[in-house]
Amino acid sequence: MSRDPRYQKLLNSKRWQEVKAIVWRRAEGLCERCKAEGRLTPAVDCHHILPVEGAKTIDGPDGMEARCYNPNNCQLLCVPCHIKTHAEMRSHTKAEVKANRQRAFERWIEHLGGKTPTE
Ligand SMILES: [Zn+2]
Ligand SMILES: [Zn+2]
Repeated sequence: MSRDPRYQKLLNSKRWQEVKAIVWRRAEGLCERCKAEGRLTPAVDCHHILPVEGAKTIDGPDGMEARCYNPNNCQLLCVPCHIKTHAEMRSHTKAEVKANRQRAFERWIEHLGGKTPTE
């Protein structure tokens, strides 16, 4: 999925396994996008709403680490939803994509009950 070695390193960690476990428990192993649309589909992938590679630094409040390990920035998806989500991310201009992601993230946080990230 990703070619950034720093991102790969973040994913090859125990911490990422723990974050994924939290997300899988929250979603009960179901695609969260399908669920929001009223369908129950087994999930396959853990998607980052604000892209980890889009962060400019490794650490800091909006760094790669913060984005990667924030369960609220993760969405459990089935394969078709994951493809659809990434297609939507690509089908706009850069500025639009950025604004859309921010909105998607805010909507998602609202959906989760307005809880801000703890990790
Ligand atoms: Zn789905
Ligand atoms: Zn993704």
